Amino acid sequence: MAKVAFLGLGVMGYPMARHLAAKGHEVTVYNRTAAKAEKWVSENGGRHAATPAEAATGQEIVFCCVGNDDDLRQVTVADGGAFAAMGKGTAFVDHTTASASIARELDSAARSAGFGFIDAPVSGGQAGAENGVLTVMCGGQSDVYAYVEPAIMSYARAARLLGPTGSGQLAKMMNQICIAGLVQGLAESIHFGQRAGLDIEAVLDVISKGAAGSWQMENRGKTMNQAKYDFGFAVDWMRKDLSICLDEAKLNGALLPVTALVDQFYAEVQGLGGKRWDTSSLLARLNR
Ligand code: NAP
Repeated sequence: MAKVAFLGLGVMGYPMARHLAAKGHEVTVYNRTAAKAEKWVSENGGRHAATPAEAATGQEIVFCCVGNDDDLRQVTVADGGAFAAMGKGTAFVDHTTASASIARELDSAARSAGFGFIDAPVSGGQAGAENGVLTVMCGGQSDVYAYVEPAIMSYARAARLLGPTGSGQLAKMMNQICIAGLVQGLAESIHFGQRAGLDIEAVLDVISKGAAGSWQMENRGKTMNQAKYDFGFAVDWMRKDLSICLDEAKLNGALLPVTALVDQFYAEVQGLGGKRWDTSSLLARLNR
């Protein structure tokens, strides 16, 4: 069992840190809004720290799950950030969905200070974090990955090192590119079926067992048909992720025409008041 810190107790970080404590790790938490950290300690034990640096002091592994690149810089390399307090031979694991370039930037800072860095974005959403069954896509050095993998498995069903630093973020981009096109296809299919007067639930029950089946169809088809979007993975987050994908595609020359189009559809959903709606709300745009 390790001495660890967790920075960022949001929708994802809060339950991930809970699983680390439940597996017997000694957990110190930091959250920008201190009340959440106090609540976490009252429920799970351990202690909370006032700054990322204080949280990282004396830990073997420091985990982090904040919003975007800027937030990540804030908790790592800014004043009071964790990096200045990391000991030699320790490791920093970042679960934020961020760019591959910030992963490389932080890895280089970590290496020069003598500790390891793994970019490790996750898939599986709030339910995956609550139930400890996330998928974790990792990039970094194999010895550092071997050091952190057992702790990551506290809240994961699958974790894998996919290549050098940045590879975890690039894999997560593939994941989000798939989801964008897939959800738009599902939205169009349900929209079409509704216009045709079909029993949507019955149709989805059948076609989900065939070649059109997907996680989105299984987990979102019914709620889309009921126009329920007040849960899940927010459109604002999806647009953040798609902008990371589109920026990376400019660098590597990949063509993402459908992803770029769906990103614009999500901008329209934001305009409909759907900033915090689940990504499946692409159907709301077709049915307005
Ligand atoms: P969230 O609930 O908004 O939590 C964000 C966390 O980051 C909060 O603890 C917040 O602190 C902290 N934070 C934000 N900016 C900060 C800053 N500048 N300095 C210090 N702390 C800061 O977000 P989430 O849903 O947990 O998502 C976290 C990451 O996981 C994102 O990159 C997201 O794209 C990714 N992700 C989310 C899901 C999902 O279903 N939610 C699924 C897969 C991946 P406060 O409490 O003070 O605001």
